[in-house]
Amino acid sequence: MLNALTIDVEDYFQVNAFARSIRYEDWDNYPLRVEANTSRILDLLDEFDFKATFYILGWIAERVPGLVREISRRGHEIACHGYAHQLIFAIGPDAFREDVRRAKRILEDLCGEQVCSYRAPSYSITKNSLWALDILIEEGFVRDSSIFPVYHDTYGMPDAPRFPYVIQRQAGSITEFPLTTYRLHAGKSEYRLPIAGGGYLRLLPAQILIWGIERINRQENQPAVLYFHPWEIDPDQPRIKAGLKSTFRHYLNLRKTESKLRKIFAAGRFSTMKAVLQQQSVQ
Ligand SMILES: [Zn+2]
Repeated sequence: MLNALTIDVEDYFQVNAFARSIRYEDWDNYPLRVEANTSRILDLLDEFDFKATFYILGWIAERVPGLVREISRRGHEIACHGYAHQLIFAIGPDAFREDVRRAKRILEDLCGEQVCSYRAPSYSITKNSLWALDILIEEGFVRDSSIFPVYHDTYGMPDAPRFPYVIQRQAGSITEFPLTTYRLHAGKSEYRLPIAGGGYLRLLPAQILIWGIERINRQENQPAVLYFHPWEIDPDQPRIKAGLKSTFRHYLNLRKTESKLRKIFAAGRFSTMKAVLQQQSVQ
């Protein structure tokens, strides 16, 4: 079964974990590493002959427009990660619409195609910001991958469906591809283990991730989605001073990410979110 491969294209200083240490106004003071890291990812994908969906931050697209064109030229799906990486539930509807519209326009101008897939910064579509789905529909998006169906300290909708589904809203409908969780049972209670990527990708051994994806494919007959960031394959990135938890989450196992990705890629088949949803006939 085809699984979705997704990359959130932003740089090491833009992650939410560092938002208290680094102000948006100061982003231009940090050396960009995203172009070189994403180029390495593009080569890795070519090696495996995989296509992927790249959720690109508008701010990044403006500074390295050639990178967006290159991702598109190599046959990958260009998708939108907003402009300034602000949490949706923190900025409210008007600022969200402005942010997403700005990013979509920049990306479409660069790749010459409609950009119809969206992922929220830090999965910030939660039960308090479901209005964002109406705005996405109104702004021309047909696919979203922003809802993490887990308990987490900053995001998540623990009761949301675990696999692709169509959400009906007042503004219309949008296909949601939730981030993959593996269901564990302990007595009568169910626990959802995120195996989709990011910090979990770096925390869990490759064999567990491969096993989890295979079980989801075979037993539940559903596709998984894997996500990571270009900075996660870059152990030499500048160190940012931040709290203990943020530091642990950000710098854990950076040196091992690429070899882990190679093992996961060798064990499965991956493509764009669009291709996987078409295969599943969800949209
Ligand atoms: Zn992000």
